[in-house]
Amino acid sequence: MIIKIIILGSGGTIPTLTRNLPAVAMQCDGRLFLFDCGEGTQMQMARAKLSPGKLEGIYISHLHGDHVMGLPGLLMSMGHVPRERPLFIFGPPGLNDFVEGNRRSLGFQSQFPIKIHETMGGRLFHDDTIEIEAVPADHSCFILAFSLKEHERPGLFLVEEARRLDVPPGPLYGRLQAGEIVTLPDGREIRPEQVLGPARRGRKMVYATDTRPCDQVAELAYKADVLIHDGMFDDDIRDQARQKHHSTVVQAARIAKRAKVNKLILTHLSSRYHQAGPLLEQARRIFPSTRIARDLMEIKVPMYK
Ligand SMILES: [Zn+2]
Ligand SMILES: [Zn+2]
Repeated sequence: MIIKIIILGSGGTIPTLTRNLPAVAMQCDGRLFLFDCGEGTQMQMARAKLSPGKLEGIYISHLHGDHVMGLPGLLMSMGHVPRERPLFIFGPPGLNDFVEGNRRSLGFQSQFPIKIHETMGGRLFHDDTIEIEAVPADHSCFILAFSLKEHERPGLFLVEEARRLDVPPGPLYGRLQAGEIVTLPDGREIRPEQVLGPARRGRKMVYATDTRPCDQVAELAYKADVLIHDGMFDDDIRDQARQKHHSTVVQAARIAKRAKVNKLILTHLSSRYHQAGPLLEQARRIFPSTRIARDLMEIKVPMYK
């Protein structure tokens, strides 16, 4: 499976000419999952060549305007395009009022069902390849941080081993690779673990914005491949960050280090910063594998072999 993260909006609170309001897309092969939907998200999706028709679900962190104002516009546009399967929208209590209120006052319809799930956290989605989980983070209102996790995959098929055991090549290989116990024509039973290498780790991506540094996010992000974290302020104004319930880039870097993540992407940058260089320097002193999010930046997450 190809997993790609596309930053659609790397700013926060107020958009700038180079930083749109928060939204992050995660693409798993052809499927698309959207985290937050700041104003202008549908235009950013168009620029990134992401089709709203591929959306499986939208995950809203909290009900601050900079994270949800893109939702009415996106849903209105989607209403004009044929689609039958439902669109799932998850987020904190109050989300239903926001979407339904917009629908009522603007009078827009959609041909497909919009299923809104208000949640305080837990496992929100799973299928046979991935799962999406949410935990509360630490902001001025109730907020969720999200992880998208790929399930562990069976190990590589060891052809030499299969030959040694006289497993005839063909469909039996496929069934063993899929985890099935098979019976050979001569009556012997072969278990998958006899012909498979060790299970391969699944990838994990975490999105945690608008939060002070907190334990819940550090735990959710444990050994994540990519952590996208609030990095609204530089560390010289930690008091202000604390008052406003955000993180400094150094605090985010400490969370990344503690959670042993592979890569940290800082996002929700304050509009006051025209140059991100000094922020990056501060963060890299603590956690070298840090990048500052840019709009339309793509991060490919390589598969474990
Ligand atoms: Zn925000
Ligand atoms: Zn907020």
